[in-house]
Amino acid sequence: MSDPGFGTYVHIPFCAQRCDYCAFVTYTDAEDLERRYVDAVLAEMGRSPVLPASTSAFFGGGTPSHLPVEMLAELVGALHLAPGAEVTVEMNPEDVSASTLAALVSAGVTRVSIGIQSTADHVLASLGRTHRGDAVRTLCETVAAAGLTSWSMDLIAGAVGESDEDLRRSIADVLDHDAAPPHLSAYLLTVERGTPLSRDRARHPDEDVLAGRYEILDAELSERGYGWYEVSNWARPGHACRHNQLYWDGGDYVGFGAAAHSHRDGVRSWNLANLTAYLDAIESGRSPESGSEELTDEQRHLERLSLALRTRRGIERPPGGVPDGLEGLLVEDGGRLVLTLRGRLLADAVLGRLVGSGVGAEVAR
Ligand code: SF4
Repeated sequence: MSDPGFGTYVHIPFCAQRCDYCAFVTYTDAEDLERRYVDAVLAEMGRSPVLPASTSAFFGGGTPSHLPVEMLAELVGALHLAPGAEVTVEMNPEDVSASTLAALVSAGVTRVSIGIQSTADHVLASLGRTHRGDAVRTLCETVAAAGLTSWSMDLIAGAVGESDEDLRRSIADVLDHDAAPPHLSAYLLTVERGTPLSRDRARHPDEDVLAGRYEILDAELSERGYGWYEVSNWARPGHACRHNQLYWDGGDYVGFGAAAHSHRDGVRSWNLANLTAYLDAIESGRSPESGSEELTDEQRHLERLSLALRTRRGIERPPGGVPDGLEGLLVEDGGRLVLTLRGRLLADAVLGRLVGSGVGAEVAR
């Protein structure tokens, strides 16, 4: 495996409005705290020990594009980047404009990831999203003209009220034109505890429907030349997200901001998730770290196995080949075992069976 590099993650915990399915650490109606927050993150970056230059950086949230673009540019400018680093910013469709993108590109952003989720307005309403889906092509044309190295859109499949045809239509709306994104992330709707969606059982997705939607996604995307490289990610050749690949390869990264996680040399640590607590810690000169743990060898191996298994690269072939009970879920490919389409739908169960059959760390390389 090639060197995964070193990554920086910056968490931006602000959104215009909370989506019904979302359990991320984010705040609405908190614009008055944005300046303080950016200053706090800059202070946290300035206080951190000397770190390797980052081969990738990722601004996630929350909605990073909810920050005024000048503040985002300040944060990008404070990163310690290796030459040619990938710098991704997550954006909401409402925040995309030629001028915002131009400012991001001139600040050093190379990639954006836009949460479109669906192009059907009734599906967006069912997800508790407020943007409309009908302007996706214009949006794509604006992004494609911005001079980014790569970019991505996100879809969510499986909302109640979505039909197979709605999903096919969304895929076609996003991809069937000259300005299509070269990368697509597509997630099956999951019910997270504590969200409005979790309290509304009538809107919980059906497992069989979800499986069918995943099959549609994979078929439609493969047909258009987008290969899967992780269970929820498809890309045209050369457009895989380097930062996510670093996570899946078990690489090291540092996280800045509320709730941000870091991972270095087998030690995982995480910052205070509460926005005010994070601000108070930084502003009074204290560390914003909320906890840390040194992973045991067993934990590291299990984590590496579970991450590698979900990727197209897969895991090294164990001496006995596909373990009993996993026929049809794993396939041998170039001396490695890779999930089949059905296996991708049952990735957690496959992991459990691999661990149960004694397949260990040596296959996660
Ligand atoms: S925009 Fe993203 S982070 Fe914000 S509430 Fe919606 S899903 Fe959560």
